[in-house]
Amino acid sequence: MSGKIPVAVLGATGAVGQRLVSLLGSHPWFELAGLCASERSVGKPYLEAARWLLPSPPPDFARWAKVLPCEPDARWQIAFSALDAGPALDIEEAFARAGAVVASNARSHRMRSDVPLVVPEVNPEHLGLAELQPYGGRGAIITNPNCSTIGLVLALAPLAERFGVESAAVTTLQAASGAGYPGMSSLDLVDNVVPLIGGEEEKLETEPRKILGRLEGGRVAESGIRLSATCTRVAVIDGHTLAVSVRLRSRAAREEVLEAWASWPGRVAGLGLPSAPERPLLYREEADRPQPRLDRDEGRGMTVVLGRLRACPLADWKFVALSHNTLRGAAGGTILLAELAASRGLCGLKAPGRPRRPRFTRSFPIDIIRTAL
Ligand code: NAP
Repeated sequence: MSGKIPVAVLGATGAVGQRLVSLLGSHPWFELAGLCASERSVGKPYLEAARWLLPSPPPDFARWAKVLPCEPDARWQIAFSALDAGPALDIEEAFARAGAVVASNARSHRMRSDVPLVVPEVNPEHLGLAELQPYGGRGAIITNPNCSTIGLVLALAPLAERFGVESAAVTTLQAASGAGYPGMSSLDLVDNVVPLIGGEEEKLETEPRKILGRLEGGRVAESGIRLSATCTRVAVIDGHTLAVSVRLRSRAAREEVLEAWASWPGRVAGLGLPSAPERPLLYREEADRPQPRLDRDEGRGMTVVLGRLRACPLADWKFVALSHNTLRGAAGGTILLAELAASRGLCGLKAPGRPRRPRFTRSFPIDIIRTAL
């Protein structure tokens, strides 16, 4: 197989799973080698078990592959998980114990103290937490945040670095695909806004504190940022819109906020990770942008598009952010995370064309990993 890293997709038939299959079908470092899903799908040809929802055709591998059970196979070095949270809990653990690096979209392990919750441009050093996991340095679980958290954190990170962020209030308008496939009934969603997404507000109020926290002595000291979230579901297919009000620790003029976003390269710039967008953030000056239909595919769906920065009568500044929920917020985000892990040699992974690094061991000092990233 070409020197690429063999990978499997868990939950390959769902909304995020299909995005993973589509992106991994032509990935320069990763070779799609297994498509796994539930008992309902096992043994069926993939395209019979999955209703292919994407406009681009499925990759060749998906045309002839049969769906496999979610059981570890020693040939798969990375397992991309797009499982529902319930089954993810034990299945991801089983894969990590068997020696795979699990790059997960599910919430099940995100807040575990030894599990990195990473937006690569923001907190790549948190990957070092994987060293503390009880899988003997062979396997690991690394996680991508909730799809709305990612847009929020990418927008706030440059402001936190430059000015400090005291608090933020966010109202989300989340796309239908965020509920998976087939998701909500169209009669519940069309001509409507549903003002509840179960469990979502709690994730938006807690995950950014871990991501923006500091890695100290093998644990994350959470950021003190205070967050208040209201999450709604709207009749948009892809793309979560966030209306954010932010209070900064030090005063910043509008031009300074714009400059902080514009000049922020993110912390994986220059690492040559194939899925890293040229720019993680893009500010649009037009008065009526960003819009999901027009802006969600910016940077191959990996750029968060910002707009409408204006003074907030209650906080300091308010703005709108848009991110593609199944690309930047899920499949693309976990692939970028796995690229970061491979570039760092996590658990002995070797990115094609890069020297192999030793597998993590308990004696591998966590601070060395941090400074190397
Ligand atoms: P989905 O469309 O409902 O897909 C769920 C997948 O999980 C399917 O492949 C399903 O297989 C599989 N599955 C369900 N129960 C299983 C079991 N007991 N054993 C093995 N496989 C099982 O959901 P999704 O929207 O793709 O979301 C997947 C995960 O990503 C969730 O944890 C979600 O919270 C997270 N996420 C989603 C988004 C988004 O925008 N949609 C964004 C970020 C994170 P079958 O087809 O065989 O049932």
